[in-house]
Amino acid sequence: DEQRTVRKDTCSKVAFDEAKQYIPGGVNSPVRAFKSVGITPVYIDRGEGSRIYDIDGQSYIDYVCSWGPLIMGHAHPEVVKALQAAVVKGTSFGAPTLAETEMAKLVCERVPSMELVRMVSSGTEATMSAIRLARGFTKRSKILKFEGSYHGHADSLLIKAGSGVATLGLPDSPGVPEVVASHTITVPYNDLASVKLVFEKFGEEIAAIIVEPVAGNMGVVPPQPGFLEGLREVTRQYGSLLIFDEVMTGFRVGLHSAQGRFGVTPDLTCLGKVIGGGLPVGAYGGRRDILEQIAPSGPIYQAGTLSGNPLAMAAGYSTLKLLTPEVYDRLEERAARLQAGFERNARELGIPVSINRVGSMVCPFFTDEKVVNFDTAKTSNQDHFRRYFTEMVNEGVSVAPSQFEGMFVSGVHTVEDIDATIEANYRALKRL
Ligand code: PMP
Repeated sequence: DEQRTVRKDTCSKVAFDEAKQYIPGGVNSPVRAFKSVGITPVYIDRGEGSRIYDIDGQSYIDYVCSWGPLIMGHAHPEVVKALQAAVVKGTSFGAPTLAETEMAKLVCERVPSMELVRMVSSGTEATMSAIRLARGFTKRSKILKFEGSYHGHADSLLIKAGSGVATLGLPDSPGVPEVVASHTITVPYNDLASVKLVFEKFGEEIAAIIVEPVAGNMGVVPPQPGFLEGLREVTRQYGSLLIFDEVMTGFRVGLHSAQGRFGVTPDLTCLGKVIGGGLPVGAYGGRRDILEQIAPSGPIYQAGTLSGNPLAMAAGYSTLKLLTPEVYDRLEERAARLQAGFERNARELGIPVSINRVGSMVCPFFTDEKVVNFDTAKTSNQDHFRRYFTEMVNEGVSVAPSQFEGMFVSGVHTVEDIDATIEANYRALKRL
């Protein structure tokens, strides 16, 4: 590829105009419309390895990776092979298959809290089902979540949410009944003192705390030392459940997910993204005595026509099989190189940038402040972000069109990709 500074978007423009006639806002998920950054969305034709190719014939080094799932890049040969082998045998049966047990066994082996696991078809379904289970099990109604965390779009969880909700600056969504919202308590991320105050008041009524063990929907925010441990302690003390929403962090920040990395074991865990290898998958699981309350072994209901779908299991299982300790070492090393390069660029150009990273999740914020929660994330200069984003797209680097999402380094990003990205970042920052 030759270096470029202006992106061609003729075909994408036509495509977007056409889509808007039939799809709300032209897209099937809000942030894809690039509304907050004010440029035409990039229409993708195909992906291969660390790159995606748009319908105007340009390529991009991709750090969106489908918002996290593609930890081994686009169209990985092993994943494609597994899918090809599966698809000719039929796409769905609505009956048990061996692939589901194989997948469940692998997830239970690798994720410390998982004694039993139920497959669903999205992260939203995973968190929604985990909340219902926690409420049914504890016979309590309230839940506690953190400001700027996103746990999918179930009614109970769409309160002070991050991700696209924050990107578009939307208030809590219309359509969520007040009685439902009133059962959700929110406090700032990393603020254990507030959690304890809430529990002193409502502890006996709280079914669960749901937390992203690394917050990934307000940019990337690591848990401060003692935070996750504190949540573990307070939930135990009051008979509430601790739910780790590892839809983003699961198999992303380590072979044993965030709970392995930080050494804190929740009662329930939600997974998605990486475990589907790019197909629609979610999962929830955890303590056997709790999961046995789910139908058909127990009375709490949850089901799915396409749950455990053979294609989804094939893509997910083959992806998980690729994830060796060496891959995680490489992810750590490449992502650290990216972070160091970005930090050097910002320093040299005198632009205030504060970068958070956990494993292969990396997020530059345009601020001097250390970002520890949603309020500090919001100190990032949005105008800088918008211009930076546009310049990165022009440079042929795909990053999320939102300050409140991180970059995902994959196991197939080469050192050359990383260095080219650092150079693109330098030129993009220089043009701010
Ligand atoms: N939880 C977390 C932590 C997420 O990051 C997301 C998606 N970004 C979800 C839940 C929802 O997953 P899905 O989009 O697959 O419904």
